[in-house]
Amino acid sequence: MDTIEVLIIGCGIAGATTALRLARNPRRQITIITRAPDPHESNTRYAQGGIIGRGPEDTSELLFEDIVAAGAGVTSPEAARILADEGPPLLNKVLEQTAGVVFDQHDDGTPVWGQEAAHSRRRILHVGDATGRAIMIGLVAALRDLQRELTQPDVPITFTYDEVPKTLPPDVTLCVFRVVQEALHNALKYSHARAIRVHLGSSAKELTLTISDDGVGFDANAAMGKGLGLISIAERLEAVGGTFQIRSQPGAGTALEVRVPLSIVNNTDIAAV
Ligand SMILES: Cc1cc2nc3c(=O)[nH]c(=O)nc-3n(C[C@H](O)[C@H](O)[C@H](O)COP(=O)(O)OP(=O)(O)OC[C@H]3O[C@@H](n4cnc5c(N)ncnc54)[C@H](O)[C@@H]3O)c2cc1C
Repeated sequence: MDTIEVLIIGCGIAGATTALRLARNPRRQITIITRAPDPHESNTRYAQGGIIGRGPEDTSELLFEDIVAAGAGVTSPEAARILADEGPPLLNKVLEQTAGVVFDQHDDGTPVWGQEAAHSRRRILHVGDATGRAIMIGLVAALRDLQRELTQPDVPITFTYDEVPKTLPPDVTLCVFRVVQEALHNALKYSHARAIRVHLGSSAKELTLTISDDGVGFDANAAMGKGLGLISIAERLEAVGGTFQIRSQPGAGTALEVRVPLSIVNNTDIAAV
């Protein structure tokens, strides 16, 4: 099978979503380069406001009209048409389904649609006031998932658990899942470990997660912000009130210890699963 080499410069929402869409063809060998070592670092990460979806009682035509009106004569109708027709469905396919971004919801699970600025309908989705950060975390995680799928690790990974709540809120579940993925990615790529262990447990007060390896270890303080995803782990945990600690020294393996308080999770239904 001939491969097609693709180079994408930039890993903001534009570069990352392009990579995810192009990667559906396995012949494409995709390389992404970024300016900062941490792929999350981009304008996208700092976008605090919301993003356009297809709200209730909304249509592609209404969105097109709003964009053209807001442009006051300078909007390219062709570009506005593409954005109005393809943007909202792509938000659903790429950001929600592929990158696992969970936009704000009401208690009954329906999306919180906002109406802002020149929009005539409720069609703006948020993740609190850090929408861009949530999008970047989801996109980079989805890209790393793909990378992992194509790499067969020759390192045994053992997963153990004891008592954990039967149910957890979706944002906590996603957070724990992504933290494990990020930590395994780091261990497989950098640690030269012979074995990796993942343990999930809980006490009455908190959910605990430990990912440990017997690899080469590293200086955790010096590694912060150097592309190991530690900032995204910290941000993910902060969103659910959690914390983490890294126990590692050069030559002595690494353990990532995570705690999420159960007071904001579900402390009424603890049982072995
Ligand atoms: C504070 C703030 C708030 C915002 N609020 C909103 C909002 O509410 N709603 C909204 O829709 N938009 C908002 N935006 C705008 C939105 O964030 C941007 O339009 C969008 O993120 C641009 O995405 P991008 O992928 O094109 O670029 P970026 O996210 O900037 O990504 C650029 C990528 O290119 C890489 N790069 C740059 N130069 C080089 C180089 N020389 N070599 C290699 N790589 C390079 C960078 O490392 C990065 O990976 C906001 C922006 C900011 C800063």
